[in-house]
Amino acid sequence: MPSGVCVHIDGISEIKQPRRKVCEECIKIGAHWVHLRTCQQCDATLCCDSSPNQHATKHARATKHPVIASAEVGERWLYCYPDDAFAEY
Ligand SMILES: [Zn+2]
Ligand SMILES: [Zn+2]
Ligand SMILES: [Zn+2]
Repeated sequence: MPSGVCVHIDGISEIKQPRRKVCEECIKIGAHWVHLRTCQQCDATLCCDSSPNQHATKHARATKHPVIASAEVGERWLYCYPDDAFAEY
C-alpha cells in the first residue's frame, strides 16, 4: 500500500473492490457512464468525472467519504478528494 501520501490513503489497508461493475446511481436513472470508481469508505461504485453525471465526485462531496479507487481493470490507483492526492498501489 502507498504510504506518506495523505492520512486518508495511509489509513487504507485493503482496497475495496466493486461489488458490481456498474454505476449504482446511473443504473437507477438509465444513464451511461465512462469509467467506474469505488468509494473506499462504503463500497459504493460510481462513475468518474468524464461521465455525464459524475456520481463519484457528487458522492464524495455529499458524504465526505475521501478516497476512491479506480474500478477499471488494469488500473490500480487511489484518489483522495480533500487532499487532491493520487497514489498507485
Ligand atoms: Zn487525504
Ligand atoms: Zn453514475
Ligand atoms: Zn462512500
